[in-house]
Amino acid sequence: MTDVNRRWFYARKPEGALRVEHFELKTEAVPEPGPGQALVRLRMLSVDPAQRAWMMARTYRPQLMPGDFMPAFAVGEVLRSCTPDLNQGDLVEGDFGWQDWAVVSPRQVLRRHSRPPHPPLEQLVGALSITGLTAFFGLFEVGRPRPGETVVVSAAGGAVGSMALQMARIAGCRVVGIAGGAAKCARLVQELGAHAAVDHRSANFRAELKAACPNGVDVYFDNTAGPILETTLTLMNQRGRVVCCGAVAQYDRGDWGAGVAGVPGVLISRRLRMEGFIVMDFDHQRREAEATITRWVTGGQLKALVHLAQGLEQAPQALVDLLAGANYGKVAVRV
Ligand code: NDP
Repeated sequence: MTDVNRRWFYARKPEGALRVEHFELKTEAVPEPGPGQALVRLRMLSVDPAQRAWMMARTYRPQLMPGDFMPAFAVGEVLRSCTPDLNQGDLVEGDFGWQDWAVVSPRQVLRRHSRPPHPPLEQLVGALSITGLTAFFGLFEVGRPRPGETVVVSAAGGAVGSMALQMARIAGCRVVGIAGGAAKCARLVQELGAHAAVDHRSANFRAELKAACPNGVDVYFDNTAGPILETTLTLMNQRGRVVCCGAVAQYDRGDWGAGVAGVPGVLISRRLRMEGFIVMDFDHQRREAEATITRWVTGGQLKALVHLAQGLEQAPQALVDLLAGANYGKVAVRV
């Protein structure tokens, strides 16, 4: 256990791809909780592509500016409490950032687990939290697939994508994953039950995706935007649904790039619905969704893939690797 607080700051704005040099580690004293607060020892950090998007523009949260402390969803343990609402030993979840210690108020805590046994920490920042819920709500509330329909998922070897892919399979759909590289694609079929998988780096990507979807595409769960979205749009069936979950192909390049060809032309002629969402939109349905996801995970129908990095000092490298597609499953850092 450290007796100092190591904190990562976003130091410099990247012109192109993000690198570790864009961050700076500072060491401060362990903060003291005041009345109504608690001292939390961080245990597991979530690493998310959105952290790169926050550097580019105002999104659903203010833009990150050089010099800002690096925000991140995380799980920690209450070591000392000056509030009756949090007890020593509680596990708490919230936006606590990339650091060893955080002083939090009960209002900042999104979820609290007061009694062991707890689910594994990596699942509390992944499958049983934002990752699983994003896949669940995006697929079932926005995409609304019917059994037998073809569902295509991009970044399908990643955190959200691997969940969405398996959920569509559970829902009785024909599922096709898109991922980077032959090895990842093979795992989607062999380990996650995809009916087919297509490498987005292939020179014949469109032809291979078309062959993998002989009945066309009914639901496209889009994690990437960019060229994959543009290609998949051309294969959509009438009344298809495009779930705009994320735009990871645009985050790590310094600008948002050009618009997508086919919008709105293909949307009009094929009567497509293209809809964006943020996981928090469905907070009121969270408890029920978590119960379903937990049942699937504990029952073995849904694999919660985890890509773990060890140590707070690895956090920037873990984000750089994630954006480069080095991960298979949810990227998290054990502090
Ligand atoms: P992932 O674990 O999927 O990691 C990102 C993946 O994106 C990489 O593994 C890589 O996989 C792929 N990728 C990177 N660059 C490109 C590119 N240029 N073209 C195609 N694929 C690329 O991350 P998450 O599961 O955490 O997030 C997935 C998406 O979901 C993101 O866009 C994120 O912003 C979004 N999201 C949205 C939420 C919402 O509320 N709407 C909430 C949470 C996440 P590969 O090797 O296959 O290329």
